[in-house]
Amino acid sequence: MAMSPEVKLAVFGRAGVGKSALVVRFLTKRFIWEYDPPLESTYRHQASIDEETVSMEILDTAGQEDVLQKEGHMRWGDGFILVYDITDRGSFEDVAPLKGLLDEVKRPKHVPLVLLGNKADLEHARQVATEEGERLAADMACAFYECSACADQVGTGGGVAEAFHELCREIRRR
Ligand code: GDP
Ligand code: MG
Repeated sequence: MAMSPEVKLAVFGRAGVGKSALVVRFLTKRFIWEYDPPLESTYRHQASIDEETVSMEILDTAGQEDVLQKEGHMRWGDGFILVYDITDRGSFEDVAPLKGLLDEVKRPKHVPLVLLGNKADLEHARQVATEEGERLAADMACAFYECSACADQVGTGGGVAEAFHELCREIRRR
């Protein structure tokens, strides 16, 4: 298998949307209910994607950074997962401004991106329709997934790993 250079992925979204749970899910295939909520961490991971070994560095942001810190993370990253919580409309409304800032920081480059609506297991508490997520992703010209860090393969588009893998593909297409 060929080795690819490292890709740097950053996970953005309001505090509480499940960024850390998603990253841990991706790395360990497990769900862990609670850990130090406001901390930011980086992880290294290798995955086989389309017959190629991709080594990635993943930044799990805290979601409470000021604009300067956000811009720093955006400059660092090659690709971004923008996460909202389908049961929290405000977290969905945070996505477009994040994308705006990303475009500003990365201009004139195209920004590899995926949109992820998390907590799809909480259908009874849903505040953001699947179609709204699809529409926003179409506006941002990126892939869209609804998933759940605590359940496999809930919602529309495959599991958590699929979202990370698609982002890696998108980065390599750049
Ligand atoms: P972060 O601040 O974005 O990193 O969010 P966390 O990963 O710390 O998760 C915030 C809270 O949401 C925790 O109580 C998690 O257990 C919970 N959570 C995260 N993902 C899911 C999910 O997919 N479904 C449900 N029901 N709860 C989740
Ligand atoms: Mg976190």
